[in-house]
Amino acid sequence: MISGMAAVPEPSLILSFEEARHLVEDHAAGLHPRGKELVELLEGAGQILAEPVLADRNFPPFPRAMRDGYAVRAADLSQLPATLVVIGEIKAGAGKEAIPVLQPGQSAAIMTGAPAPPGADAVVMVEHTSRHGERVQIMKAVAAGDNIVPAGSEAKRGERLLSPGLRLDYAAIAVAASAGRNRLLVYRKPQVAVLATGDEIVDIDVPPAASQIRNSNSYSLAAQVQAAGGEPVLLPIAPDEPARLRELIADGFESDLLLLAGGVSMGKYDLVEQVLAEFQAEFLFTGVQIQPGKPAVFGRAPCGRGRLAREEVASPASHVYFFGLPGNPVSTMVTFELFARPVIEALAGMTARKLAFLNARLKSEIKTRTGLKRFLPAILSGEFEQTEVELARWQGSGDVATMVRANCYIVIPPDRERIAAGEWVPVLMR
Ligand code: AMP
Ligand code: MG
Repeated sequence: MISGMAAVPEPSLILSFEEARHLVEDHAAGLHPRGKELVELLEGAGQILAEPVLADRNFPPFPRAMRDGYAVRAADLSQLPATLVVIGEIKAGAGKEAIPVLQPGQSAAIMTGAPAPPGADAVVMVEHTSRHGERVQIMKAVAAGDNIVPAGSEAKRGERLLSPGLRLDYAAIAVAASAGRNRLLVYRKPQVAVLATGDEIVDIDVPPAASQIRNSNSYSLAAQVQAAGGEPVLLPIAPDEPARLRELIADGFESDLLLLAGGVSMGKYDLVEQVLAEFQAEFLFTGVQIQPGKPAVFGRAPCGRGRLAREEVASPASHVYFFGLPGNPVSTMVTFELFARPVIEALAGMTARKLAFLNARLKSEIKTRTGLKRFLPAILSGEFEQTEVELARWQGSGDVATMVRANCYIVIPPDRERIAAGEWVPVLMR
């Protein structure tokens, strides 16, 4: 390792929000997950699927009645009311022997989820019928196909139901269960090192002196890493002193990604970029025109030798990416979501997705300065379709208590000084 002060990139690479996000997405697209493992179905919830899941039978496996009522031949209902002979009753789960074949003029009582009988092409809802012994009077016409889901119409046997790269949410878990999969192959979670920096920062089990601050960033970041599909590796707090910072950064490069918090601003003791430069780091950006989070740094360094030797991966990564996130707790959280999350998702094997904004009506006027794109903690409230959004009243980027009350961010373009109540504003959910 080169000793002394290495150069921080010059001129500084400050990008617009969109440029920075695209750059991160481009680099994330070149990343690969680290191996696969077999897990029990429910253990897989929230993880990233590593194999296709195929339909082991037709979905549905038989023409399925969608309503309680009478299976009929639609052509028998040209004159209304129509009277049909009832030749049987078909329950959900009925075997072949309990399913009659319908001839013209005939019907069968049928329950939701039961197989429609051969000869029937529709089901009339029980609400539109009146039963008299062996006969039923039908008051309403149906078209062929009404209230019956044809066999194989949702998926044919052998068809792909789920693709690798999908995050297994409750709907995907339901599909896997329907296909009889009690185990699934998922990608191994990437290890993400988390390194908080700052002379004033102490860990949570140490009583803080009057001028000290408890480390919250390592914990918020760890929780965000877990939610994104990674395995956080918490490193000890780094002081604002190059030698110890260097040791801990070297440890961090043993993971698949390194997240640093603090020490990336312009202060005399903000040493993170200098020390990263000693690792032959390539800086991809050193600031973004956003607030909070302007000093955010993104880059990569050649892989540590320890790591290459340790892992028997066919094509080991040649770089470890890092983010230097600003240390103000709200800035740390926001910049993680905007930039670090897609990299973790890519390392976790997840198919890339774009950042999605919603639009909501502004409840009260916003006045701000121009020049930076702002992601301000906000509260989306109201009932049903009547939602409105307003800024959370906050004391700046250190105010974590306000972040707990906020459920989204209002996105303010860099050229707006005033946004009136009632205007539509883009919102990023959190
Ligand atoms: P920095 O980015 O290092 O200039 O820090 C900006 C602000 O965030 C300072 O007020 C720090 O005390 C605070 N801060 C930095 N790191 C942490 C942390 N790990 N937990 C809580 N607050 C922090
Ligand atoms: Mg600091």
